[in-house]
Amino acid sequence: MRLTGLGSSLAAPLRRLGKWAGRGFRCLKSGRVLLSVAALAAALAVGILVSQLWLSDSSDDDPPSPSRASEDSSQQAPTTPGENARTSSDDRTQAPVETAAASNPSGESAPSNRQDGADPESAASESSAPEPAPTPVFIVLDQEPQTYQEALEDAARLSADIIWPSGCMSPLPHPDLLPNAPRAYRSGTHQGVDFRCFARGHSAVAALDGRAVVVVGHYEDPESGNRDLLLDIAAELDATPPYTLLTLYGNYVVVDHGIIPEVGHVVTVYAHLENVDPGIRVGEAVQAGQRVGEIGNRGTHAAANGDFYTDPHLHWELHIDNQYLGAGLSPEQTRNVYTTLFAEAS
Ligand SMILES: [Zn+2]
Repeated sequence: MRLTGLGSSLAAPLRRLGKWAGRGFRCLKSGRVLLSVAALAAALAVGILVSQLWLSDSSDDDPPSPSRASEDSSQQAPTTPGENARTSSDDRTQAPVETAAASNPSGESAPSNRQDGADPESAASESSAPEPAPTPVFIVLDQEPQTYQEALEDAARLSADIIWPSGCMSPLPHPDLLPNAPRAYRSGTHQGVDFRCFARGHSAVAALDGRAVVVVGHYEDPESGNRDLLLDIAAELDATPPYTLLTLYGNYVVVDHGIIPEVGHVVTVYAHLENVDPGIRVGEAVQAGQRVGEIGNRGTHAAANGDFYTDPHLHWELHIDNQYLGAGLSPEQTRNVYTTLFAEAS
């Protein structure tokens, strides 16, 4: 449709180009040099106009020659499917969020949504074109967990630099305080380490240098009955919905440590904070050992009942490439991995 419209809009300038060029050559032949120069200049001007019209109507194509513009639409038709495929691909890169929304949990995109807004002709020609390779948008959560050996090696590489909260109880002898422990109250699995501190006033500190990516510092605990209703949904699903899990973190901070050589993309989480230090802001750098906030019990059952002093503890997570360290390992393997991770912690 677009090329046919373009062809008719170019017909008049093309006729004019031919007319002036012909006049120029005739004048040249008859020795009228001045007239021939004027006529050829007019033909050149029309040619430039034609090429500009062509360019403005096909901005993602290579600049065409005027002779290509004179081809009829049936000769140009073979270029159309490729052009449509390119447009489709551009749409996908310009709207990754929509593509993500159209993705099903297995990561496959839904083709019907991709053609929204396309005219029927281009939709038909795209269906006959080879399907372009899908562009990965999310590479989270559905990847293979690390093997025990990989987890041990990463823990050993990180251990020299890791800082853990001082003055709180070591979680290592207690499987229930480590990752992979069941959390029956929310029908889920613990992804982190609980550092029990037994009193308020302890500091959560950044484990490594990084940059804050999530800062929740003004959390208000839900009314106890409402918290229970959310947990009822988890029980029905037999899993903790991700956003429900976040409501159970209370005040929390997430620090992105970037890509650590030979380990991967490392992120840490500091949850159940009583408060967050004012210097901790999204995007701002955080130094290893820098206090991110006071350890508390926000987000817990006690806090939902208005008791902010019972069992203050830091819920701490370490993720490598979007999986918590030790995901899927046995309790003994998990303890070995975290014993290695904290072997040199100060
Ligand atoms: Zn925890």
